[in-house]
Amino acid sequence: MYDVVILGAGPAGLTAAIYAARANLTPVVVTGPLFGGQLALTTEVENFPGFPDGVLGPELMELMKRQAERFGAEIRIGDVTDIALTQQPLRMTLNGELLETQSLIIATGASARLLDVPGESEFFGRGVSSCATCDGFFYRGKTVVVVGGGDSAVEEGSFLTRYASKVYIVHRRDRLRASQILQDRAMKNEKIAFIWDTVVEEIIGDENTGVTAARLRNVITRAEEVLAVDGVFLAIGHVPNTKLFEGQLKLDGQGYIVTDSRMHTNIPGVFACGDCQDYIYRQAITAAGTGCMAAMEAEKFLAEVEGRAYPA
Ligand code: NAP
Repeated sequence: MYDVVILGAGPAGLTAAIYAARANLTPVVVTGPLFGGQLALTTEVENFPGFPDGVLGPELMELMKRQAERFGAEIRIGDVTDIALTQQPLRMTLNGELLETQSLIIATGASARLLDVPGESEFFGRGVSSCATCDGFFYRGKTVVVVGGGDSAVEEGSFLTRYASKVYIVHRRDRLRASQILQDRAMKNEKIAFIWDTVVEEIIGDENTGVTAARLRNVITRAEEVLAVDGVFLAIGHVPNTKLFEGQLKLDGQGYIVTDSRMHTNIPGVFACGDCQDYIYRQAITAAGTGCMAAMEAEKFLAEVEGRAYPA
């Protein structure tokens, strides 16, 4: 029987682990499919305080892991299935093993949203990607499309110019939502061209060579164009990884876990933090902040149910 199990090993989960471990709760952190969460898929992180020269996303996550382990957190690789939250102790299965815990911190994050157009799933991994950092290297001297108009699209578009000879950023409106500093950088980059008011309607490819083109449609004029490209990078936002909790936890219309301002879900002893509950800020630093809050609330919950001393 554990005091606290933490699901997810991104900034929220690992910060929760640092705080829970320092409170002597010997937390178990279940990594889920991607250790480090979305930061594992990024390059330079320039806005995490304490790193004036920037830090690589995977390196930052490795540092957080070391810090959590230093205080006794146990990191378990795998994905939890069959979770039962409606009775105490809370129960779940990890790699065939039953885990029982008094409290649970959910920090399962979010995953890249897909376009849901013909060719997307067929060519995923063969020209279609949701991770420029992971796959950019394969596009040396090639032409790619990035879909989206937020920070991710613009940042990934800029990153891809390290390899690609031409990057088209295709956005469904005529105005970006990306932050001004990223926009300014991209606008100055000669390898980037913006295609406004346009959506990708189909990803076209070849059995053997993968993606060869994208069928675009201007949403104002309805004009269609087939643009020859070697890769299509999706950067159209994310969906929360909360399917496991459907029917047990209160989720909002988009699937985000509903918490109060202190990270409590609708079930006592179950807390949520980071991108699985935050659809507004979605930053590494805010995820870390809510991870800290969730751990402190779990500690308080355990103190209340067990009459343990809770440090003021
Ligand atoms: P986002 O801000 O939600 O932007 C998603 C973009 O995709 C929007 O421009 C949206 O268009 C477009 N889009 C959504 N669904 C679409 C669809 N089905 N077809 C075509 N286009 C679609 O997501 P994000 O860029 O991944 O950023 C998420 C969060 O992470 C934000 O808070 C952002 O600030 C942060 N972030 C920060 C950095 C950084 O600071 N360096 C880097 C990356 C991300 P509309 O604009 O029309 O809605």
